[in-house]
Order: sequence, then C-alpha cells, then structure tokens
Amino acid sequence: MNKKKLKIGLDYDDVIPDTIPSFVNFHNQRYGTRLRFEDIKSYWLWELGIGKDKPEAMRLFQEYYASPEFDEMPLVPGAQQGVLELASLSDGCLEIVTSRPLMFRVKTIGLLRTRFPATPSTVHHSNDFHDGEGASFSKATICQELGLDYFVEDCLAYAETIAQRRVNVLLLRKPWNERDWSRLRKLNGDNQNQNNPQNHITPVESWQELLEHIKGGYE
Ligand SMILES: [Mg+2]
Repeated sequence: MNKKKLKIGLDYDDVIPDTIPSFVNFHNQRYGTRLRFEDIKSYWLWELGIGKDKPEAMRLFQEYYASPEFDEMPLVPGAQQGVLELASLSDGCLEIVTSRPLMFRVKTIGLLRTRFPATPSTVHHSNDFHDGEGASFSKATICQELGLDYFVEDCLAYAETIAQRRVNVLLLRKPWNERDWSRLRKLNGDNQNQNNPQNHITPVESWQELLEHIKGGYE
C-alpha cells in the first residue's frame, strides 16, 4: 500500500537561502557597519536601525538584490539535503510561499533551478510584506488554499497567521524568534488545548530537527 504523500510548503528566505546572514555581510562591507547576525533580534530590520524606516530598509535590500553577493548566497545549513528529503515525501511538487516582491522573482526561481534542478517547485508570492505588486493574498490564505499538511517558516508573526488556518507550521530558530523561543518550546511540550492555534506551531532548532518531526508523523 502506498503511503499518502504530503503537501509541503516552505517559506523562502532564511529557510532555503541563508538570506539575513548574507545581507548582514553585504551591509557591513558596503556601509562599514559591524552588524552581527545574532543581534538581528527583530524580523523588521528598520527597528534595529537598518534603514531609518521600512521603505529605506527595502531600498537597502533591493541594493543587495542587485549585487553580485546576492547571486552567491549560501543555503541555510542543512537545506540542500533537507529540501531533497522533503521533496521525496511530498506529492510531487514543493510549494514555495514567499513575501518577496514579484520584482525578485527571476533570481528567486533561478536559485531553485540551480541548486535543486531535479526538484519540482512552484513559487507563490504573498502580499504580507509588500503591497500592490501584483500579489494579492496573504501567506496564510495561500497555505490554506493549497491544503498544505506542513509549512516551514522562520517568522513567528507569519507562523501564527498560518497556524490559525490549521496548517502545521515548523518554525526554525533564528535570532528574531529568540525572545519567544522558550515559551514556544514549553507550549509545544505541553500539548494542551488543541484549539489553540499556537499548538499548530512546532519550534525546531534546525533543518535536521524539522525533518525528524515530519518523518516522525509520516511513518
Ligand atoms: Mg523567511
């Protein structure tokens, strides 16, 4: 008897490519700053003074997108093998749901084709971060409509909205989740009230742990 194949979705930045560590290096070299990855305690970079406001932080990121450094961005540790393993469990196509704007689409797809040439994937752009660029749905809506069994994310705010739609979210540990981490771990360990959307969020330390979790529910 064939096992049911899973519908698996993934966020893109800091789940597949190691975007923020790489951006930090770029910013330090271009602007002479001494930012450290472990100090990126907010997902919203302008709150840390990287750009004076959101439009300026976005402009900095667009500058990074246009740079040669962007094209050489490494993957998150474990992601190369991890994506291949998820693809083998999935129903044939991985669903990538990103809040990157459509103007970043060419390089977004380019990395997937280069690093995962034999892995079918579809890239969906949400409007959670950028308004009015052709993407009209939130990540949560897209994940729900795709009927995903699992979604891998690194931003807690997005994870919470997706979990409210009863999609199981695996949240990777990053400095910007740090202040909520022990609470999330405890909540997850308690396995209490199943109606609590936060119980649909499983905090994971690494790609290895997220694979173990998905495979554990699969076998
Ligand atoms: Mg991300």
